[in-house]
Amino acid sequence: MAQISPMADVTRLPPSLWAVTAEEAFSGHALEGDHRFDIAIVGGGFTGLSAALHASQSGARVCVLEAGEPGWGASGRNGGQVIPGFKWDPDELVAKFGEDAGERLVTFAGSAPDLVFDLITRHDIQCAASREGWLQAVHTKKLVKAVELRAAQWQARGAPVNFVRVDEAYALTGSPAYVAALVEPRGGKLNPLSYARGLARAAASAGATISPTSPVTGLQQTGGNWVASTPTASIAADKVLLATNGYTDGLWPKLRQTLIPVASFIVATRPLSDNVRRTILPGGHVISDTRRLLTYSRLDEAG
Ligand SMILES: Cc1cc2nc3c(=O)[nH]c(=O)nc-3n(C[C@H](O)[C@H](O)[C@H](O)COP(=O)(O)OP(=O)(O)OC[C@H]3O[C@@H](n4cnc5c(N)ncnc54)[C@H](O)[C@@H]3O)c2cc1C
Repeated sequence: MAQISPMADVTRLPPSLWAVTAEEAFSGHALEGDHRFDIAIVGGGFTGLSAALHASQSGARVCVLEAGEPGWGASGRNGGQVIPGFKWDPDELVAKFGEDAGERLVTFAGSAPDLVFDLITRHDIQCAASREGWLQAVHTKKLVKAVELRAAQWQARGAPVNFVRVDEAYALTGSPAYVAALVEPRGGKLNPLSYARGLARAAASAGATISPTSPVTGLQQTGGNWVASTPTASIAADKVLLATNGYTDGLWPKLRQTLIPVASFIVATRPLSDNVRRTILPGGHVISDTRRLLTYSRLDEAG
């Protein structure tokens, strides 16, 4: 029987800036006994919770089975930067996937922040959200042309993207380390743990059952039915969605085989002093740079 990775202590939320500053945790209790749903979703991060919200709104009976609490995984511990776009530039997507699918992917990626901020407004999710934009800061002269082209590709599709050179990059970032920057006004920021908790509340209001402290330890298909087992419940469902991301364990071994663990870290400083804060990201942008192993930063509400 599959086990949650021994690395993962789902009984507590790891300490972080977000754990201290987020809105109240979603309160719910683990499902007990036998249940039946149209869709059983394993994993209560952005993926599982958003799927639960949208499927419930379409009339499906949905449950989310989360080993810890909603937002326990990467969704409650990330940079909270809302960034349009994929790793690949628009023209690369079209070259890879063809005109039709490629352009649809470009539209999807470019409008993803609209979806996020729209959900926040529609469901009144309190998550310190603001939308002042994203900067992609260019760390080496070698990449100036490529980023300028990136901006041009978005502009050709009507996106409000800008490309700025060294002086303006300095003014926007507060750092002399960058030689240029892409300015993406569609981006923004939020408190990711609050956002995940808000998504959980929105999904529950739409009729979804959110079951925390419910690690799925077994998954069987019998006839046309799936049965997911937790330590306290047995859940039958027509469909199962595995939204377990980097915490995917042996529950579905072939999915586990597709993942390679990579450690990633975020550091929070004390709030900046007022005079420093006036110069660092004065326009409220979030920033990531063009390094292959990129660095990224932002201010939270406390600076
Ligand atoms: C350090 C870091 C910084 C990042 N910064 C950003 C950023 O600034 N902007 C951005 O857009 N993205 C960022 N990301 C990426 C983003 O966090 C993820 O893409 C997103 O959170 C994935 O959500 P998810 O729901 O797929 O997975 P997760 O949030 O990881 O959720 C998976 C859930 O599945 C649960 N689970 C696993 N197995 C089981 C089981 N058997 N039974 C029940 N539950 C189970 C886990 O407990 C977990 O809660 C960052 C990621 C990291 C690690």
